[in-house]
Amino acid sequence: MATLGIPKNTIEILQKYNFSFQKKFGQNFLIDTHVLERIIKEAEITKDDMVLEIGPGIGTMTQYLCENARKVVAVEIDNNLIPILKDTLGSYDNVCVINEDILKVDINKLVLEENEGKPIKVVANLPYYITTPIIMGLFEKKVNVDSITVMVQKEVALRMQAGPGTKDYGALSLAVQYYSEPDIVANVPPNCFMPRPNVSSAVIRMKLHKQPKVIIENESLLFKIIRASFSQRRKTLVNSINNSSELSISKEHVAAALNEMGLSENIRGEALTLEQFGELSDILNKQ
Ligand code: SAM
Repeated sequence: MATLGIPKNTIEILQKYNFSFQKKFGQNFLIDTHVLERIIKEAEITKDDMVLEIGPGIGTMTQYLCENARKVVAVEIDNNLIPILKDTLGSYDNVCVINEDILKVDINKLVLEENEGKPIKVVANLPYYITTPIIMGLFEKKVNVDSITVMVQKEVALRMQAGPGTKDYGALSLAVQYYSEPDIVANVPPNCFMPRPNVSSAVIRMKLHKQPKVIIENESLLFKIIRASFSQRRKTLVNSINNSSELSISKEHVAAALNEMGLSENIRGEALTLEQFGELSDILNKQ
């Protein structure tokens, strides 16, 4: 099968199957061999790896993954793509396509059954409408993952990688950085896709921490505090935590905790590092 990274080959397949793109599934297929090669390189795929691909589309990246990995499991929601994938991936015996919504797949079970519970790599050109639930699902369900290398909206990639005091820093940055080390490895313009998306894209690689970066007593409290801190960005931490419907912590308790940490009572969430949020959460957990 000729590589689908070349636009002419993609067009040929789409015409052969009279395929029409579904906007609701975030379908923007890659048509640039350089970008595809870059993703494979940055994902550091070896012949030992099992790769989970989310949304294979017509199998453009799947072909590269099959060439480089030991085994590929690809989960695709769109029924119309299944016969196409049978065709484009027909010459590979190391791929398994599952016709399902990724948000409904028990990925822990998949890792156990398909990779004896050993760590997998996740690689995808993600459907942008569900970027956050897919990534947070992998983290929160503690799926045994080595790294996640994904194409996302550039703006989202910047938020994932942002540090304290920047405009992009927020709950997503802290969640991603709590679980992993993010690195933007490529910027990808709209003309690398068919159809062209309205936004710029970026490839971000997240290597999961082997040991947690901060050890905290109550993970659920930490994330409630983080969500509260950024839900009202312009308010002080004391006020936003006190106003949160998820928490019942008085202003006095937050102020005392900040004093204990040597921080100003007027500080905003955007100024705190992950380590400081961890410390704050541990102090408030004791109270
Ligand atoms: N990997 C292909 C490529 O790079 O050309 C396609 C990428 S396209 C941005 C996203 C793909 O995810 C589409 O094939 C779409 O049908 C699929 N998709 C959308 N929602 C999904 C879901 N909930 N579960 C699984 N696949 C999904």
